[in-house]
Amino acid sequence: MVSLAGKTAVITGSTSGIGLAYARAMAKAGANIVLNGMGTPAEIEKERAGIESDFKVKAVHSPADMSKPAEIAQMVALGETSFGSVDILVNNAGIQFVSPVEEFPLDKWDAIIAINLSSAFHAIRAAVPGMKQRGWGRIINTASAHSLVASPFKSAYVAAKHGIAGLTKTVALELATHKITCNAISPGYVWTPLVERQIPDTMKARNMTKEQVIRDVMLEAQPTKEFVTVEQVAALALYLCSDEASQITGANLSIDGGWTAE
Ligand code: NAD
Repeated sequence: MVSLAGKTAVITGSTSGIGLAYARAMAKAGANIVLNGMGTPAEIEKERAGIESDFKVKAVHSPADMSKPAEIAQMVALGETSFGSVDILVNNAGIQFVSPVEEFPLDKWDAIIAINLSSAFHAIRAAVPGMKQRGWGRIINTASAHSLVASPFKSAYVAAKHGIAGLTKTVALELATHKITCNAISPGYVWTPLVERQIPDTMKARNMTKEQVIRDVMLEAQPTKEFVTVEQVAALALYLCSDEASQITGANLSIDGGWTAE
């Protein structure tokens, strides 16, 4: 059982999906949490208060927009002023857009590179001085199977995720003697509300059962034909925060049902 008592975790894009699962897993292990991400004030407050009451830790929400470097620095500062330190940084916020490369809207390209790649650089840049000072840190970047392989029509997403893989290795080397690790987690298809909501429409459009949509459409590339769960991804992140994982750094860990083995 990993204990993160007395530590603070900043998790970008943690109002939903994988990020929220990271936040709840780290809170369960005793960390105070800086949530970040979009949502209605009521939805965000429900998750923030739920973390505090379920796990008896403190949680604050930073509204920082991950496409704005100054706001990213403020998010890290919020963790330091609220709880005294930022010991764990999880770069997880991400968006997707699908289009042929020659038609890819310029604003979508810029937004994906900013939110899925540059935000991790800005957050790392802001969090590392405190981690170095305290001599301990864990940086975890949610990459993707698309940090290792490509799919057509996802040029910006694949470029950003390959960039995250390179950033992870570089930061790991720079911090290797400071007891700060930096790793990437690369999920395949993860069962999130976002994915679940697409199923009814696809069933109708293709006249398929739910099982057919999952196996033949969504999980075509995933050999196990099963989704990864957010809890499985969060458990891997929690392990990376443990003392047992102190020699894992610069790694890009696949959790993808065998997708990138093919
Ligand atoms: P999600 O849509 O459920 O969550 C994305 C989070 O990012 C939300 O909290 C959202 O509010 C936040 N966000 C979006 N734009 C933001 C911005 N400008 N500033 C701040 N926050 C912002 O998606 P998810 O599936 O949980 O994805 C999380 C991460 O995992 C992403 O980086 C994604 O690329 C990666 N990933 C997801 C899958 C999957 O199948 N779901 C697979 C591989 C990798």
